[in-house]
Amino acid sequence: NPGVASNFIHDIINEDLKNNKHDSRVHTRFPPEPNGYLHIGHAKSICLNFGTAAKYEGLCNLRFDDTNPSKEDVEYVDSIKEDVKWLGFDWDDRMFYASDYFAKLYGYAVQLIKSGKAYVCDLDAQSIREYRGTLTEPGKESPYRNRSVEENLDLFERMRQGEFADGSRVLRAKIDMASPNLNMRDPVLYRILRANHHRTGDAWCIYPMYDYAHPISDAIEGITHSICTLEFEAHRPLYDWVLEALEIEDRPQQIEFARLNLTNTVMSKRHLRTLVEEGQVNGWDDPRMPTISGLRRRGYTPEAIRDFCERIGISKSNSTVDVALLEHCIREDLNSRAARVMAVLRPLKLVITNYPENTVEELEAENNPENPDMGKRSIPFSRVIYIEQEDFMENPPKKFFRLAPGQEVRLKHAYIIKCEQVIKDEVSGEVKEIHCTYDPDTKSGGIASGRKVKGTLHWVCAERAVDAEVHLYDYLFKDDADSEEGALFNPDSLEILTACKVEPGLLDTVAGTRYQFLRQGYFCTDLDSTRSKLIFNRIVGLRDSWAK
Ligand code: ATP
Ligand code: MG
Ligand code: MG
Repeated sequence: NPGVASNFIHDIINEDLKNNKHDSRVHTRFPPEPNGYLHIGHAKSICLNFGTAAKYEGLCNLRFDDTNPSKEDVEYVDSIKEDVKWLGFDWDDRMFYASDYFAKLYGYAVQLIKSGKAYVCDLDAQSIREYRGTLTEPGKESPYRNRSVEENLDLFERMRQGEFADGSRVLRAKIDMASPNLNMRDPVLYRILRANHHRTGDAWCIYPMYDYAHPISDAIEGITHSICTLEFEAHRPLYDWVLEALEIEDRPQQIEFARLNLTNTVMSKRHLRTLVEEGQVNGWDDPRMPTISGLRRRGYTPEAIRDFCERIGISKSNSTVDVALLEHCIREDLNSRAARVMAVLRPLKLVITNYPENTVEELEAENNPENPDMGKRSIPFSRVIYIEQEDFMENPPKKFFRLAPGQEVRLKHAYIIKCEQVIKDEVSGEVKEIHCTYDPDTKSGGIASGRKVKGTLHWVCAERAVDAEVHLYDYLFKDDADSEEGALFNPDSLEILTACKVEPGLLDTVAGTRYQFLRQGYFCTDLDSTRSKLIFNRIVGLRDSWAK
């Protein structure tokens, strides 16, 4: 599979394959917790896990890591499935829930107790933390550490039966309270928690911890390479301990890679959830959100996101990627795919005084000069048109090659016009309309079309134009998200323009269609757009700030 670049994880896999380390083919998994919507960081993990499986003709599971019931919900399960599919990946019949393993996980815990490797501890959370010690100070053993196997079996069974209050007891691994690795100082494996689970309901009142449930879930599914982010590096000894203590034969290997961080972007689900709950954005799929559903609504394509994930590569040290690279990827993808149309965001009326009245002429316009297969369309032209307010200046600076008194410009796909007169509001002095003359010999594609003027403007025919609303976006956060806590929320990340005019062909647009609005950027028809109220989202401007 030439689409997947090599990386250090693939080096490890190549080595494993050479040594016949695993009995089966390469098997990875993507294990989201259904407690929020997926974001662009998850896309990196999805591309890596599914892409690696594809490269080695192996398998990749979708596993819901749903062992923490309080914040999980089916709404998130559904959105995650939709997003993974939309990105272009397929788990076939391999969709699993860690909660399906609750009974097995319980059985394995009993096995650990029987072999003297786990015990029930009555210390409360605060005391457990205190006993754990610090990096410079060894921990202290719990007074409950040396309970007999029988007593532990009895207490654990009764924990499960609901005899004890939430938080009153835990099951802990019996490892080493003097370990230099804090995760190995008798970590908690099970806690008592009366919370309704989105799949198992109230069947359980004890829930396994991530560090215990994850390696076993991987082993149950026959995962060979369990890829996770760097924060879990110090958890790897515990991952291995669990598998070893349970004498599991064909052991998955945990491999860590650097998570994606993006400039101007906050990426933890917890933070994104806060934005949604506090109403600072319009839901998880707000086009400003770095969620997959937000990017989709904004107009990003799965191809661009996959290309981005490919380009950033996989490394072992954390860094922050410039969001300009993501924007570069969508521009590259849409350059030859999106139809180029004309839309005027801030209209200024322009009258061509020597053009016949009550006449609408149909002009021919190519849909994409980069892609002749996209064909041509006809666009109306008439005596009154709209141009962009910022394309006219009464007293322009020297290199203003747009419209100004006495100056000529070409109207894209149409004629050369000359500005003859500026009509202003008598009271406010505001420019109300521009009067121009046109040169009928300069029609695009005609005999004298070669006559050169410095500027070309986009425009729409006033008589036929359709009203539209356009949403312009800025970053949700002002500074780097490196310091997620300190990232400054940008209160001006959304600008809504309600008086835009677009060419009539856009009336029949459907949600999700992407365009290049000439000279303005790439836009996408919003989910809420209707024929009576067209809404377009700006995906990205045209100017590329990505330094190659
Ligand atoms: P968050 O901190 O945003 O809530 P998480 O790691 O808690 O993320 P999970 O649902 O557990 O969210 O993540 C599923 C998988 O996606 C994990 O394997 C995790 O390592 C990976 N992942 C999460 N965030 C990123 C990221 N920013 N870059 C790369 N991979 C990520
Ligand atoms: Mg997680
Ligand atoms: Mg998290």
